[in-house]
Amino acid sequence: MKYISTRGQVEPIAFKDAVMMGMASDGGLLIPESFPNVADQIASWKDLSFQEIAFKIFSLYIDDIPADALKNLVEKSYSTFDHELVTPVTKLSKLGILELFHGPTLAFKDVALQFLGNLFEYILNERNGQLNILGATSGDTGSAAIQGVRGKDNINIFIMHPDGKTSPLQALQMTSVLEKNVFNIAVEGSFDDCQGIMKETFADLDFKNKFNLGAVNSVNWARILAQTVYYFHAYNQVAENGEKVSFAVPTGNFGDIFAGYIAKSMGLPIDKLVLAANENDILSRFFNSGVYERGDVNFTISPAMDIQIASNFERYLYFLVNKNPEKIREAMEQFKSTGKVVIEDEFMNNNDCFMASSSNTEKTLATIKKYWNEENYLLDPHTAVGVDVAESLNLSSKIVCLSTAHPAKFPDAIQEATGEDLAKHPTLEALKGAETRCHKAAGDLKEIQSYLAENALS
Ligand SMILES: *Cc1c(COP(=O)(O)O)cnc(C)c1O
Repeated sequence: MKYISTRGQVEPIAFKDAVMMGMASDGGLLIPESFPNVADQIASWKDLSFQEIAFKIFSLYIDDIPADALKNLVEKSYSTFDHELVTPVTKLSKLGILELFHGPTLAFKDVALQFLGNLFEYILNERNGQLNILGATSGDTGSAAIQGVRGKDNINIFIMHPDGKTSPLQALQMTSVLEKNVFNIAVEGSFDDCQGIMKETFADLDFKNKFNLGAVNSVNWARILAQTVYYFHAYNQVAENGEKVSFAVPTGNFGDIFAGYIAKSMGLPIDKLVLAANENDILSRFFNSGVYERGDVNFTISPAMDIQIASNFERYLYFLVNKNPEKIREAMEQFKSTGKVVIEDEFMNNNDCFMASSSNTEKTLATIKKYWNEENYLLDPHTAVGVDVAESLNLSSKIVCLSTAHPAKFPDAIQEATGEDLAKHPTLEALKGAETRCHKAAGDLKEIQSYLAENALS
């Protein structure tokens, strides 16, 4: 399998090179040249473990790592999860909850970043190389990426988070990691500002090459690949006789739901992919109107979804416009300069599976309360956005809602919704009062780049 760019100006490259490149060097995103179809194998995967399904899917997209080594990477990556099924589905009365929070940092990001951390280590050992990871986080990517690489040789990691805009516990999960290869940067501004600095730094190819910059954000193809696995695994846990299942996905950067699109493109019987947004509804407006137009960021109780510019959206747009890289270059340039792009109906009609809607703070809190009172199940605020939107759409197929974080990461929202201090997790309790280390910076490209230059491995 080779990887190409959505903007069409990168020679096809192999998997390991795609992982190391992160964002495509022409400013686009890397995607596989094709999606292998596995429709006729899915029934026979029914009793496979998460790890076995992961190995089967990864083998279709990775042909430059020997099978034994790949198997070891998979085993090692998922041995840190505290549930035997890795990503279990809990069946409630109206829908299934796909629990993606059983990894070390209690958010779905671990599923991909435990694997990516080990993958980086494997490739660097093989190539005798060094890597400086640069990432931006709205809260969960940062800690998951840090957990994926803390203490690893030949890797330094620099994570920017918007100062004061993550939950205090999310910040603590990052800044309490004191290994000397870990650099947290609290940036004055929003997540979009952090992501903007990251993207500009990756687009500066001299800088990127000089410091061997690597990406852990969902611009990295390996993350999306790892996330396709749980769609198959969840399908196997709920579907009967090959029926179609819908997935509701609390969405920010469009990475998680894009993995669902890939699963569907590979032949998994998915009915609808339900995009659930909070007040930051740029993507749900797009799916309902064809207009992709950014607004101001609203800061909500589901902060991981407080995003106006969704990185992975470009990957989907590429397929929507019939894989036309020129059209993508044009659209993305227009969006960059005017903050708005309109996709014509002839392309919007290619959408055969996405439905989208948004929730808000009031409905999210009411959903948390209702599920606690009626089902004795505690939803985190992101998952509650997904559940609220899924319920509002009255779909006829079975629905699985992706649960993207453990509620204990957001105790204030849980307290507000239920009136009780219910959300606890031993991993987080253990962090309270921990020593921390963090560098504060203005949201300024040059300042961040010089901090990086001072502390990078080279
Ligand atoms: C990252 C994150 C999301 C958004 O996922 P995307 O892949 O960016 O769409 C939703 N919920 C939580 C808890 C997250 O950490």
